Amino acid sequence: MQEDCGLFGIYGHPKAAELTYLGLYALQHRGQESAGIVSSDGVNAFIHRGMGLVNKVFNEEALHSLVGHLAIGHNRYSTTGTSIIANTQPLLVNFFGEGIAISHNGNLINAAELREKLELGGSIFQTSMDTEVIVHLLTKFTKSLGKRKALLKALKKVKGAYSLLILTNDEIIGARDPHGFRPLVIGKLNKSFIFASETCAFDLIGAKYIREVKPGEMVVINKEGIKSFSLTPSKAITQCIFEHIYFARPDSLVFGESVHRVREKLGRRLSYEHPCKADIVIPVPDSGVSAALGYARKSKIPFAIGLTRNHYIGRTFIQPLQFIRDMEVKIKLNPIKDVLKGKRVVLVDDSIVRGTTSKKIIRLLREGGASEVHFRISSPPIKFPCFFGIDTPVQRELIASSHTVEEIKEELEADSLGYLSLEGLLSCVKNKEKYCTACFNGKYSLKVHPQTKYIFETKKHFREL
Ligand code: AMP
Repeated sequence: MQEDCGLFGIYGHPKAAELTYLGLYALQHRGQESAGIVSSDGVNAFIHRGMGLVNKVFNEEALHSLVGHLAIGHNRYSTTGTSIIANTQPLLVNFFGEGIAISHNGNLINAAELREKLELGGSIFQTSMDTEVIVHLLTKFTKSLGKRKALLKALKKVKGAYSLLILTNDEIIGARDPHGFRPLVIGKLNKSFIFASETCAFDLIGAKYIREVKPGEMVVINKEGIKSFSLTPSKAITQCIFEHIYFARPDSLVFGESVHRVREKLGRRLSYEHPCKADIVIPVPDSGVSAALGYARKSKIPFAIGLTRNHYIGRTFIQPLQFIRDMEVKIKLNPIKDVLKGKRVVLVDDSIVRGTTSKKIIRLLREGGASEVHFRISSPPIKFPCFFGIDTPVQRELIASSHTVEEIKEELEADSLGYLSLEGLLSCVKNKEKYCTACFNGKYSLKVHPQTKYIFETKKHFREL
């Protein structure tokens, strides 16, 4: 199973691997489990991958080994159970003497089905990742069709969410599924073209944002320049609204809009829908900052920093000792007592998933001296799992799937609780009909295969079935 990830690729630069390393660094928030880069000098492909954060995986020696003028990279999001080196990306295969590498962000929902067929036909899989079916399909069709047509044919067979980068000896290909679930953008640095999941990667290396890869578009970059192909007849566009709510970095442009601006609007709308008598508005850092600013500006209640975050603990906090695990929220966040003492607080966060973290944060604020805690969430209740690239727990673990807002308020021990409405959420983005909101209303734009649902529910992987 593949969750939301960070992609970066560059063609036509003598320092392709170094720039990819920097791009991955800017996209670290999209995946902390593993990182990897594949480069090519036009003849040979070179690979370096490892578990952990980008700066742990790569050192000078590793970067020097990645020679060539084209490279693609990948950051993998944390998951349960599959934290193994074999599942890191980019995937690199050798086919008729040519290295073909692939980086994938998203989830394929018919991978199990396709994999079974391919295995029956003699394919031998090296990983338990859904992405590998694309590689097998691609190589299967390449001999008769040539690389480009083979990829178009392979992508016609897969269903689900994919933003992809593919590297061959002499080109880089970027593709986005016809629904456009996950972002992918094109930039330019002098004469080199670049792909990235988010524009914050361009800012870091001084590249210029050009445009998005369109849903259902395949963009080929090689020495002749840039060419666009259409994957399939166009489908209803259902971009992931959660990229705006939580996943992307606030300084990025995603789906053509500033993430920070969207989040600020969410906060304003939240204040309109769920006003509150309070002394200060504080965010859960960092995910709630932009929305809390919007709430404070609209409500005219002063914005304050009431929690300090320890940045040296990542999104994946794995501790062998239970008593240290229990302290995770305390290790991550510390209340500023001087700010909170005797104050009625509006606490703003982007979402409630299981509710376990939020409950601990509310408790921390009370221990820190807050007299009241009014919890405001800049998205609607999450009731359904995501099959398209965001790592959500199984449905029964989503607190809003089985509790009313009032019951959640009681469970979290908040003085009041207000979620943004779905209508309110959609009023804050430009093309509201072009978003997937299935995690809130269960309306999936693609029928999910029962085997895929089973894999998600059991958190099992192909090999274990
Ligand atoms: P909880 O109180 O346990 O439901 O956790 C809520 C927190 O999880 C919020 O601060 C969110 O920013 C964060 N969150 C939301 N979605 C995800 C996700 N897919 N992966 C990790 N954290 C998330």
